[in-house]
Amino acid sequence: MTATTHHRICPLCEACCGLEIKTQDDKVISIRGHEADVLSKGYICPKAIALKDLHEDPDRLRTPLIKRNGVHVAATWEEAFAEIEARLPAVIAQGGRNATGIAVGNPSAHKIGLLTYFGKLARALGTKNVFSASTLDQMPKQLASGLMFGHWLSIGLPDISRTDHLLVIGANPLASNGSMWTVPDFKGKAKALQARGGKLVVIDPRRTETAAVADAHHFIRPGSDVFLLAAMVHTLFAENLVRLGAVADWVQGLDEVRQAVATFTPEAVAVRCGMDVLTIKTLARDLATAERAAVYARIGTCTQTYGSLASWLVDVLNTLTGHLDQVGGVLFAKPAAFASNTAGKSGTGKGVSTGRHHARVSGAPEVYGELPITCMAEEIETPGEGQIRALITVATNPVLSSPDGPRLAAALDTLDFMLSFDIYLNETTRHADVILPGLSPLEDMHYDVAFPQLSWRNHARYSPPVFAPAAGQPQEWQSLLKVAAIVQGKGANEDADLLDDAQFAQDAERLFGAHASAVVAATQGLRGPERGLEVALRTGPYGDGFGTKPSGLTLAQVKAANPEGGIDLGELQPRMPEMLRTPSGKIELAPPLFINDLPRAALDLARPTPDLVIIGRRDVRTNNSWMHNLPVLAKGPFRCTALVHPTDAARLGLQDGGQARLRNGTRQVQAQVHISAEMMPGVVSLPHGWGHDLPGAQLGVAALRPGTNLNALLDDQLRDPLSGNAVLSGVAIEMEAVT
Ligand code: SF4
Repeated sequence: MTATTHHRICPLCEACCGLEIKTQDDKVISIRGHEADVLSKGYICPKAIALKDLHEDPDRLRTPLIKRNGVHVAATWEEAFAEIEARLPAVIAQGGRNATGIAVGNPSAHKIGLLTYFGKLARALGTKNVFSASTLDQMPKQLASGLMFGHWLSIGLPDISRTDHLLVIGANPLASNGSMWTVPDFKGKAKALQARGGKLVVIDPRRTETAAVADAHHFIRPGSDVFLLAAMVHTLFAENLVRLGAVADWVQGLDEVRQAVATFTPEAVAVRCGMDVLTIKTLARDLATAERAAVYARIGTCTQTYGSLASWLVDVLNTLTGHLDQVGGVLFAKPAAFASNTAGKSGTGKGVSTGRHHARVSGAPEVYGELPITCMAEEIETPGEGQIRALITVATNPVLSSPDGPRLAAALDTLDFMLSFDIYLNETTRHADVILPGLSPLEDMHYDVAFPQLSWRNHARYSPPVFAPAAGQPQEWQSLLKVAAIVQGKGANEDADLLDDAQFAQDAERLFGAHASAVVAATQGLRGPERGLEVALRTGPYGDGFGTKPSGLTLAQVKAANPEGGIDLGELQPRMPEMLRTPSGKIELAPPLFINDLPRAALDLARPTPDLVIIGRRDVRTNNSWMHNLPVLAKGPFRCTALVHPTDAARLGLQDGGQARLRNGTRQVQAQVHISAEMMPGVVSLPHGWGHDLPGAQLGVAALRPGTNLNALLDDQLRDPLSGNAVLSGVAIEMEAVT
């Protein structure tokens, strides 16, 4: 039989590269970049070919599992839903809706069925205990963008193909190809920037892969980004470098910002940042005087106790230097579907608010409808009304990916019922009573909901499934709807498609009023996320408006463009003020939540810095813990090493390749040492998502080289109080050689 060629969006990371996959019979025979792809132009990273390993992985679950006498056994779908019906409603009947919790992980962002139907299950549960991986590393950015621009996903994106100066803080896009910024082939784009005379400047406690190709790299003490950024803002005011450019008419809060950063002089923060005064001033001056410049900051600036302040100050800098909403500066995407900043009234909106409810035990405020995932263990452990007794996890492995995994693992064992939607029996799902497996990505259609909102270029791309799912295997959205029906008391035998039809008819009524029946008629033949996608595209900014704009986009057109690599919707363009959704219709430069939190940072300036702190690390070959189970990614040098600067290694008596004990109070882990001058002295780096040596998981390849669980060392009580984000960076540790 001859090979068949498929074109498909890679679902393995935020870069969303276009792939060309050749198959023969039911086997993948090659995976390469799709040269015609409108977003990635043929680029792929080494992870892409692991899609074959993922599809063929014998550990990937193909049938539901039910835990019987402590052991997971294969079950039919009917048995699994019956088990859920027998156990989940009873917990709700006894403890109420808040006796349940639901947590979702980042792979769901790459599956339209999970992403658009997770909320239906969460709403059916009606619980306040909603958690996600967002509070592990990105909620500060979402909160800052929400308060400044009016929506959580209105994220300013560097216009990398036209900028002259890119300042990267606490991010490693050369390894990640962007995070909250979809920028495949960052390396090629950075080279092009440099070739046209531009500069790439990196600030990071490690000389990362990105720093290694940059024109300048400056070390910074982990956790001190807020001080650097505030001092840079201070410098702009002090040296009369503030220019708002084209957004001047839309900015409010300039004087409040000026006053708020008054004490953050470069002289006051330099020691704390581990930088010199002139460097801080020069960074601000270079940004202000560059014609086209952008600041991009990510994980390092978010995963700290001042994550929200740091994320906010990044866009304050972009605004004060005249680069916000400027070609070659920072722009906002205009995606074809699902963006809130293209819907509703142009230029104004409800904005965002937080704290509509609070976590029962810690009192942490809700943000974006979620509570911090680091509250999950204590919400399970602590008796009283609202104690979580049943938990649903969706594509998430917080036992490895969230601080104090051992505590969470112990808490999960005390639940009355746990249900996991997951493709693996992993360190978290081993605690589940029922596991419902999802499809292999190659068995599922693909349209990115979130990432076109974060992409370096506007586009619309759809991928059909490469393989048909096994007979009888439901789609994830169907399983989510069935569990929602069980929770709503409809039982386990409802037909998912009929449930979907009924739900869609209700949604159409709410959204389209008198036109609802026309929309239902126009989308006949479609179901599930495809139907939602059709509606989102046709009512989106490029859509045909269901016939009112005949030349506009439809799902059929996007599907038809699959072999050509999708539909290119052009470079990002200035969008002020139409993209704003703040109640004021302005860019809120000085949200009170942030202005009022700056004194907390100011007080912290005088605190002595620890001798040794730990940070995480991104590797191009891993993005999620389950990737450690894919042979093509697991092979090669052992990557879960603790990087230590030579002076620290000498001081602590550590040997390259030797073992070291890392302590944080009573928590301790052991890791292999790698001595490296790429580290800032006083900083240790260990990647996260490892620690595959826990009993009961079924990850055969990962278990061969389990690595060290960084998060077992971290405290789940440390958070950014505004966003609830976990503190993963800059945590003080002690380290000693293990002989
Ligand atoms: S960069 Fe990300 S999206 Fe692109 S090929 Fe690699 S894993 Fe896939």
